[in-house]
Amino acid sequence: MSILVVGSVAYDDLETPFGKKERILGGAATHFSASASFYSPIQLVGVVGQDFNETEIAFLKQRGVDLSGLQIQSDGKTFHWKGRYGYDLNEAQTLETHLNVFANFNPVLPQHFRKSPCLFLANIDPTLQLEVLKQMENPKLIAMDTMNFWITSKPEALKKILKKVQVLMVNESEARQLTQERNLVKAAKKIRKWGPEIVVIKRGEYGAILFTNDFVFSAPGFPLEDIKDPTGAGDSFAGGFVGYLSKHNGRLDQTDLKRAVICGSVMASFQVEDFGLDRMRHLTKKEINERFQAFKALSHFEENLII
Ligand code: AMP
Repeated sequence: MSILVVGSVAYDDLETPFGKKERILGGAATHFSASASFYSPIQLVGVVGQDFNETEIAFLKQRGVDLSGLQIQSDGKTFHWKGRYGYDLNEAQTLETHLNVFANFNPVLPQHFRKSPCLFLANIDPTLQLEVLKQMENPKLIAMDTMNFWITSKPEALKKILKKVQVLMVNESEARQLTQERNLVKAAKKIRKWGPEIVVIKRGEYGAILFTNDFVFSAPGFPLEDIKDPTGAGDSFAGGFVGYLSKHNGRLDQTDLKRAVICGSVMASFQVEDFGLDRMRHLTKKEINERFQAFKALSHFEENLII
């Protein structure tokens, strides 16, 4: 099944303890698309300015992303985010957010996007997420992400959209901020009462936990020796997670949900190995399959009684 994604397409300035990069391709929808396109065909809805480079368009096209929903505003500048990470790579510090063309973005879905069976509402203004959802014709699977910026500035719109989605993916500090609950089990329970039947809480290098009514599944973070830049890890996780589910017809049974969490973890583990999208540019399906197997070995153990 194809996946429609709406979210930011950006230029990022990034600073981590391992280097500094300016004006590199970023954005939640971009990171999601680069990752999910290994699993399913992607249709992207977003906006960029006149400063957006042709080479970035070529990269996304070469990953098989349908860009007929990407508006190019000739009188505006592309969304720009500047972030910094300290040695605790789990928490980004936002230094600047320039919405630019996103400030008055009006998403209009091309006709052939409206029937997409799977929708991912990446990190973007929740009122825009609602606008996109309104134009869809009965999607089978709807998943979404958000972040502190929107939790603080648009809480009402966020609650509205939460009622309409099946899966929410957030990182642990966002889950706490959203629910005012420190304990993640309680936070997930609260979120599930607001709408999404499935909640995935991302914990950076410590992995991810999926909560449903019937079971909880926890995946470790992959033990990597070299991490350069955690930007986009959350969106790449979402790409692997939603990508896997959509490749398997949007089934949400236990086996598929667990595999989807591992696919998300696999994609995020590659994403952080280099700055921006650089690792995704030369990633192969063979490497993805090998790391999927390595994940299995990482936490598999024999089930003998120990006492
Ligand atoms: P993450 O996967 O959470 O690390 O997302 C990183 C991407 O989110 C960056 O490439 C940014 O361009 C983008 N981003 C940062 N702030 C915002 C925001 N307020 N709205 C939409 N996208 C954002």
